[in-house]
Amino acid sequence: MQSLTLYNTLSRQKERFEPISAPNVGLYVCGPTVYNYVHLGNVRTFLSFDTLFRYLTHIGYKVRYVRNLTDVGHLVGDSDEGEDKIGRMAKLEKLEPMEIVQRYTLDFHSVMATFNALPPSIEPTATGHMIEQIEAVKALIDKGLAYESNGSVYFDIEQYNREGGQYGKLSGRILDDLLNETRELDGQSEKRNPLDFAIWKNASPEHIMRWKSPWGMGFPGWHLECTCMSTKYLGTQFDIHGGGMDLKFPHHECEIAQGHGLNDHDPVRYWMHSNMLTVNGQKMSKSLGNSFLPSELFAGTHPLLDQAYSPMTVRFFMLQSHYRSTLDFSNEALKAAQKGYRRLVNGLRLLKGMTFEAEEGAAIDHKHGEEITRDSQALYNALNDDLNTAVAIGHLFSLLKKINQLDTKQVSMGQLGEAAFTQLQTTFVQFFEDVLGLKEETSRDQTAMVSGMLDLYREYKTQRLYDKVDQVRSYFKSQGLVIRDMKHRIDWAYEE
Ligand code: AMP
Ligand code: ZN
Repeated sequence: MQSLTLYNTLSRQKERFEPISAPNVGLYVCGPTVYNYVHLGNVRTFLSFDTLFRYLTHIGYKVRYVRNLTDVGHLVGDSDEGEDKIGRMAKLEKLEPMEIVQRYTLDFHSVMATFNALPPSIEPTATGHMIEQIEAVKALIDKGLAYESNGSVYFDIEQYNREGGQYGKLSGRILDDLLNETRELDGQSEKRNPLDFAIWKNASPEHIMRWKSPWGMGFPGWHLECTCMSTKYLGTQFDIHGGGMDLKFPHHECEIAQGHGLNDHDPVRYWMHSNMLTVNGQKMSKSLGNSFLPSELFAGTHPLLDQAYSPMTVRFFMLQSHYRSTLDFSNEALKAAQKGYRRLVNGLRLLKGMTFEAEEGAAIDHKHGEEITRDSQALYNALNDDLNTAVAIGHLFSLLKKINQLDTKQVSMGQLGEAAFTQLQTTFVQFFEDVLGLKEETSRDQTAMVSGMLDLYREYKTQRLYDKVDQVRSYFKSQGLVIRDMKHRIDWAYEE
């Protein structure tokens, strides 16, 4: 097994990853609130954890990956007061809340599939776990860590801390500072302490999403669902919990308090947070009005875009930065990513088309095999170092040089040797496809079309019909492709 280190937000350092019960790994990631189309910022977070899931699986772990769907309880402004995001949308669009949930869940799934993200092992919903949430509220009240007030139930932070809890330890927030920051909001008088957070909210009759509970009609607080669903499927303590940086506080801080309060130990061993996608340095978010939808990117229709970009170009763009760094959106960076992705995918095509053929009397030059081994190990080292996809991609480019040398016959198969060729092929294909989740985007139909056009090109060339040859070339260009007319072969490639 590879020796993986991960940055743990809780300890603020990189730690060697040791699962509770290897080879099993429990991974929980906070999923989207399905009240609107996911924007590219959301996508970045989910792709970071998709890559983690892929890598853990690649190095031999059996991962149970749980990513929830928030379909109730997330209030506008992420606070304890205000309208439910889904309920609000349902009213605006005059639809049932579950119609809103269905519409945006389908969108989310299709966006994730377009970016070649693997589905999680379990995708539970908050509304599907109402019983578990009501039981958790009861248990916290019984333990003296929560209290009822006007039909709502709040988690008692002072009591939790008196019993040894350390509210604030994940985000590094100091309680006194938090108190100073907290403004008196409507309804906060229900709380013993303004920092207490709702685990159950009383719902007035106008509130369309409400359930019967021992405290009257209401709905669960946003933070509670993740505690209940993660423990149900992964146990009261599990390996990795992920989400975007902006969820560290209050969402994940509250999850720790609830989990610890219920089970007397921390719920999670490794907390991982991915950084934000920004636009001109500002977090991409729906409320700031600077978000783009993936569909706008694929069509190139957003005013900030110079052109359209394909899903794999965007995935590659995201992988080129480390998940803990912010990533600023720009046309220049996307164009560079398009070029980089196409160079690698051209290498992939060439490599997949090659087979090892022994050459009579050729002597192996071990230098090549050593370089391939070094780059392959460097790929693993990069990902073992807190999933550094940016560095890993650099090593894929080194392997690409070897592929191109084989293609242009600067290095022959005989010089390379079978073992080195197999290592090159396995490593490159596995990292590109299985670990980084990239793939060639051309469909089988398009490939058939392109190959037919290439036959025409050969035909016209033989007949010296140069006008027609030029027309075929233009067709390739219009498809983002080029004809590679070489001495030993005529082929096509993606335009880099
Ligand atoms: P939400 O649907 O608002 O709960 O967000 C879903 C996920 O997207 C959460 O993990 C957020 O942290 C993450 N997220 C939201 N905005 C961004 C952004 N600009 N960049 C990266 N991740 C984001
Ligand atoms: Zn969550």
